[in-house]
Amino acid sequence: MSGLIFFRKKLMSEKISQRNRFIQTILRIVKEMTWLYDSHIHLSDPEYASYIEFILNEMKMLQIKVCCVSMDYENSLQTLLLAKKSNNVLPFIGIHPECAYDDLESITKLIEVNQNIISGVGEIGLDPTYAKNNEDSTRQVHVFENLLDVAEKYDKPVSIHSRKSLDDIFQIMASYNTKHALLHWFDGSKKQLQKAMDMGFFVSYGPVIVYANDKQALLSKTDESKILVETDGPVRFSRCFEMKSGQTSFIPSVIFSISKILEKSFDETAKLLEKNSKAYLGI
Ligand SMILES: [Zn+2]
Repeated sequence: MSGLIFFRKKLMSEKISQRNRFIQTILRIVKEMTWLYDSHIHLSDPEYASYIEFILNEMKMLQIKVCCVSMDYENSLQTLLLAKKSNNVLPFIGIHPECAYDDLESITKLIEVNQNIISGVGEIGLDPTYAKNNEDSTRQVHVFENLLDVAEKYDKPVSIHSRKSLDDIFQIMASYNTKHALLHWFDGSKKQLQKAMDMGFFVSYGPVIVYANDKQALLSKTDESKILVETDGPVRFSRCFEMKSGQTSFIPSVIFSISKILEKSFDETAKLLEKNSKAYLGI
């Protein structure tokens, strides 16, 4: 009888140590797995609201973290709510140049109050498409500079919108820290790219890289340590992903395309982008 108890105990302890080994292996795999980063997406846009739980689950399964940027004060509140739901949502709050007349004072206060919660300031920047006159342009610059001041004060990375305004952005940014600044959806010339690299900016490429030769050429000229990826969802892409609104699940395809241009494996590219994303975020 005592022999049987001894045998059972031995079997049990073997089972437990087997299970512990299994758990340790899983933990090690999870720890070593590369996180993918979508460096610019409007996940708090109402377009995602009806299936946001699905997206958050999908991000968890695919190991994707997102820099969730905001358009204005109200949208920034939504971004903060979303970040409460998931650790994989890194909240960026700010005023997009399209919303330049939004309440700058309130958003500044919101950044101050949430300085320990937010991951960055954005989407901020300049865009002549949204300026009908000089007053509008001046207001955009005023808002941009004020939010850059706040970001610098709290040492936060910035996500910059620079459509048709890269040279003005370079001029303004010359007096700011550009080491944690992202020129999202980079769309400049090769010369402007060189300037961005000289100033230490990060630049991000999105789903367009899958098919656009000019973007692929730009990517091949970008310092490897400054490349990030993004979707800018819910923007839709006419020539890929069947006009669906931008999804975080597009990110692996974007990384795959980039890996081909850089002549690296998918895993090597994912590791490089994870390192770059952490450098951008200062984490
Ligand atoms: Zn955007």
